[in-house]
Amino acid sequence: MPAISSRKPYRIGRSRTGLGLFATKPIKKGDEIIEYFGPLLDSRNEKHDEIENKYLFELNGRWTIDGSVRRNIARYINHACRPNAESDVQPRNRKVFIRAIKNIQPGEEINYDYGTEYFKEFLKPIGCKCDSCEKKRKIARAEERAAKKVAKKRAETRAAKKAMNGAAAAGKAKANGKTAHMNGSAHLNGKSKTAAKRKTSTAAKSSAASVSKRAAKAGSSARP
Ligand SMILES: [Zn+2]
Repeated sequence: MPAISSRKPYRIGRSRTGLGLFATKPIKKGDEIIEYFGPLLDSRNEKHDEIENKYLFELNGRWTIDGSVRRNIARYINHACRPNAESDVQPRNRKVFIRAIKNIQPGEEINYDYGTEYFKEFLKPIGCKCDSCEKKRKIARAEERAAKKVAKKRAETRAAKKAMNGAAAAGKAKANGKTAHMNGSAHLNGKSKTAAKRKTSTAAKSSAASVSKRAAKAGSSARP
């Protein structure tokens, strides 16, 4: 790993996707953090035009910085969709600087948006691992789990109701005196279904269980 002067406000460290650049000192919004540098490639030069790597930074139609060189510490900066820094591209000077767009605290990873083209080509196919995309995925997974829970609950309530209706029909056939009581608990079942929807699955399970227990009791007590 290239050596970095302790006067610099950053260091190379482990990030979610491998290595990244992390602040070691507070960096103020608007501060220039580091230059993204490397040999200039001229698109009119055939040999230059053949060079391909992930660290090419296009300045304009003609000039591109080849940032794959070891001394270019800025190449360690990862992409983020909601970054705390940006690339300040100066085509006339043929230079790129990474500048803070937020106050950055020591320990925070420094990120900038690599741009739509890079995102489409390299990040979208493997899934962007930046904080905001990870958060989005987490929320989506939680929503999926919640939807599955609701579906399971519905199926359980339906099964309990079916079992209870079966028991009620049996009870009705065997003892007329018990029908009124059975209808009462059938009504209760309808009520607990709506309540279960808003509560946790344990509440739904216990209400479903108590309904079927009640139904079984009524069924057995109906026998002479
Ligand atoms: Zn992202």
